[in-house]
Amino acid sequence: MLLVPCPHCGPRNQSDLRLVGATVPRPDPNATTPEEWGDYLYLRDNPADWIEETWYCRAGCRRYFTLTRHQGTNEFRNPPMPGDKVGTATYTTISVGSSGSQPGANIEPHTTGGAS
Ligand SMILES: [Zn+2]
Repeated sequence: MLLVPCPHCGPRNQSDLRLVGATVPRPDPNATTPEEWGDYLYLRDNPADWIEETWYCRAGCRRYFTLTRHQGTNEFRNPPMPGDKVGTATYTTISVGSSGSQPGANIEPHTTGGAS
């Protein structure tokens, strides 16, 4: 399970949201060949690195937002939190159901700096 930090609702279960996909700048349709346009529509890189992606909070605020996530570790970089202009916490992937603990019991934000 992945805990996704919605900037309006706070951290939510991945099943409450939908991953729309990687955020890719749209090319100019008048200056793009059909092959380039097809690549923009259907081809995405899949690096084990930080990518910017769009999420939809379908069970909460029903808003679209953009997050930066590491595809190898599923960490979120500086996720915005409710009431924040810019977030400073990083959330990591958790596993649920192996030791009988409550879902979300071992979730702790990791502060990555900023003013104290
Ligand atoms: Zn939300």
